[in-house]
Amino acid sequence: MDKITLNAHLPLDTDNCIRRECPYCKREFKIRKSDFESLNHENEYFCPYCGQSADANEWFTTAQKDYTMNIAANAGIDLINKELTKSLKKLDSRSFRVKTRDVPRRNELINPENDDMVFFALPCCNKQIKISEEWDGTIYCYFCGFPHDRKGGEDD
Ligand SMILES: [Zn+2]
Ligand SMILES: [Zn+2]
Repeated sequence: MDKITLNAHLPLDTDNCIRRECPYCKREFKIRKSDFESLNHENEYFCPYCGQSADANEWFTTAQKDYTMNIAANAGIDLINKELTKSLKKLDSRSFRVKTRDVPRRNELINPENDDMVFFALPCCNKQIKISEEWDGTIYCYFCGFPHDRKGGEDD
């Protein structure tokens, strides 16, 4: 079978940032699309709020997970509809009638991204992330885990 290319484009805010959700504390933050695309899947990344670390692929929000799952499922459904219908139709004859009906595709919609949160500078990695405006505790670098004081990194 050929490789299926999945066409999942996660929504970006107007600063080209992608929402992330901590698998532990469930708080949300954002990273730049360019940083998202260069994530190293052998590395662990850190929650800016609780400082816990997890693999690169564990930071999707529930909405993003549903969206990518539905796109993956639709790729499978398309294949089933195409291949199974084709083979069932071959069986169809006067003595053996086969009725086929397509498996319905799943909804591939995801809400557009809001422009919430504020940029926070991470001099340790020379990057920026977006964090909740209300957060006034320590901010851990998503990329290296270095703890920063909230006041130091404010970026207007
Ligand atoms: Zn967390
Ligand atoms: Zn860092």
